[in-house]
Amino acid sequence: MQFEPHRIELERVEPFPGESISHFLGRFERANVWTTYQIGRVTGIKAGVSRWKKLYLSPLFPTKQELEVLAELVEVSADRLAEMLPSESQAMKPPGTIYLCAACYTEMPCHLIQWQFKGVNACDRHRLYLLSKCPKCKKTFSAPADWEEGICFHCGKSFFEMVVHQGRVKNAK
Ligand SMILES: [Zn+2]
Ligand SMILES: [Zn+2]
Repeated sequence: MQFEPHRIELERVEPFPGESISHFLGRFERANVWTTYQIGRVTGIKAGVSRWKKLYLSPLFPTKQELEVLAELVEVSADRLAEMLPSESQAMKPPGTIYLCAACYTEMPCHLIQWQFKGVNACDRHRLYLLSKCPKCKKTFSAPADWEEGICFHCGKSFFEMVVHQGRVKNAK
């Protein structure tokens, strides 16, 4: 162990259901005014933290041991952290493109890990297609870790206003 959790006063961040590791780490950093570098250093995960924030999880998938060390720091169990990740066998979309159901985000301001799963093109709950880029400026979304205000990083359009741009899934089932 490279840090003593009891000596560090940290704000605990409660995970959202289905939240991605990237989104969670971004919130944890902001709540504690910590940098990615600091988290990487005290946990010994080093550059892994910045990869996870970008959802670059392959080929270096987070190990159980890494999650256990991170769990001590963030006071969220390693099992719960594992739920913020795909299973190791789950195929993922390329990490450079981040997906969004703006309707979900309106209800719970959070990036869900399942949106990055290969083959998931629509939100089951809203029956709306996921967005892969901002409907206004057409640029891809920034890493969920940076979704502090729920707006397009490039043009400032709010995620709430993007719901109308999500195509509706026809022919249910
Ligand atoms: Zn949705
Ligand atoms: Zn934009």
